[in-house]
Amino acid sequence: MFEKILIANRGEIALRVLRACRELGVRTVAVHSTADADAKYVKLADESVCIGPPASGQSYLNIPAIISAAEVTDAEAIHPGYGFLSENADFAERVEKSGFVFIGPKAETIRLMGDKVSAKNAMKEAGVPCVPGSEGALPEDPREIVKAARAIGYPVIIKAAGGGGGRGMRVVHTEAALINAVNMTRAEAQAAFGNPMVYMEKFLENPRHIEIQVMADNHRSAIWLSERDCSMQRRHQKVIEEAPAPEVARRLITRIGERCAEACRRIGYRGAGTFEFLYENGEFFFIEMNTRVQVEHPVTELVTGIDIVQMQIRVAAGEKLWLRQRDVEIRGHAIECRICAEDPFKFTPSPGKISNWHPPGGPGIRVDSHVYTGYTVPPYYDSMIAKVITHGDSREQAIRRMRVALSEMMIDGIKTNIPLHQELLLDPHFIKGGANIHYLEEKLAAREEVGRK
Ligand code: ADP
Repeated sequence: MFEKILIANRGEIALRVLRACRELGVRTVAVHSTADADAKYVKLADESVCIGPPASGQSYLNIPAIISAAEVTDAEAIHPGYGFLSENADFAERVEKSGFVFIGPKAETIRLMGDKVSAKNAMKEAGVPCVPGSEGALPEDPREIVKAARAIGYPVIIKAAGGGGGRGMRVVHTEAALINAVNMTRAEAQAAFGNPMVYMEKFLENPRHIEIQVMADNHRSAIWLSERDCSMQRRHQKVIEEAPAPEVARRLITRIGERCAEACRRIGYRGAGTFEFLYENGEFFFIEMNTRVQVEHPVTELVTGIDIVQMQIRVAAGEKLWLRQRDVEIRGHAIECRICAEDPFKFTPSPGKISNWHPPGGPGIRVDSHVYTGYTVPPYYDSMIAKVITHGDSREQAIRRMRVALSEMMIDGIKTNIPLHQELLLDPHFIKGGANIHYLEEKLAAREEVGRK
């Protein structure tokens, strides 16, 4: 096992990794920007290093500063968390070249999966079903593009090969709008991701978002740790996640899970990862792979009883997977609500000082959060301040527990999206289970309409 790990992240995931390390008896180094200098989790670490000013470009994305922090503290490995540098192949490469272990896949795997065109090709080869679409990147010739769209059939979606975070996508319903949409997506992709390459997919009208969690060791063994349903989305960003996915036949999930584990073995994947799929009419279609731990990993931890972050660390240290596929069992149901510092109706960020913080508790309730009474939510980073995760014997019990949990939760001084979650937890479609990825947007649009009248 490692003696010391540097955590190259902030907020709740930095604390989550810190907890995993402490339990494993591994010493920790927290890095932080000047904006996070006083955060309590930073003080929980054995050592801390300031890596720059608030702007993430100069701190949490500052590769030289992070590498030197690892050097001066003599850390052995670096855990990137999610977001920031976690899927940056150049960072993974620099980490390993500097003699540290990157807790994640090899740089070349991150590069392969980070480009959605090459990821799709690799998955097709590995026998993972993909959304029908263009053969690789779209060519320059407009006639070829029109031809490709006709072959796929409208509506189509134009997506940036280097895209992420729900950006760099455009839906096209008619041939008249096609070329303009491709050009605009290309320009945006160049500006946002430094890569103008775009590709085309069939736009699925009513899919659900279902993803498979995988874990692979450095010895070509891989298992899959059940699925998550993340269909409750706003602007392609997940709001509520759950496991298992309601109303999907187990044999279908098992078949796709096995394909994912097999794909990991084929590409020599290592560490934790997620295969994201759209699910429609009983079929799964691969859209992308995330080569890191995800925000929503706790729902899987609660239904499988597996500590995903510890497993990540242990396989990075060279341990062989100690669980076989048949050891992975699902018990009950888990739901996660992402609590964000934002206006629950207008979704504008609401940073500031939390004058009173009271988290919920009781059986089957978990809160992952780095905040406390007196904590100031800085305006510089993502607005998520906590995750509330509930576990029950059934989906119904997990939902009931979530309602109780959120009714107990007090966060004063800033606005949060708790009222939105409370509304969703009483929504008949959500309660029924199996809503598609457009459901929340449609509900919000209807709410706005009512508000206007
Ligand atoms: P990102 O990396 O930005 O998260 P993804 O490829 O994972 O991009 O897509 C994000 C979301 O966009 C999906 O969860 C889904 O809501 C929507 N989406 C992506 N591709 C399609 C498609 N072919 N048809 C319908 N919706 C799609």
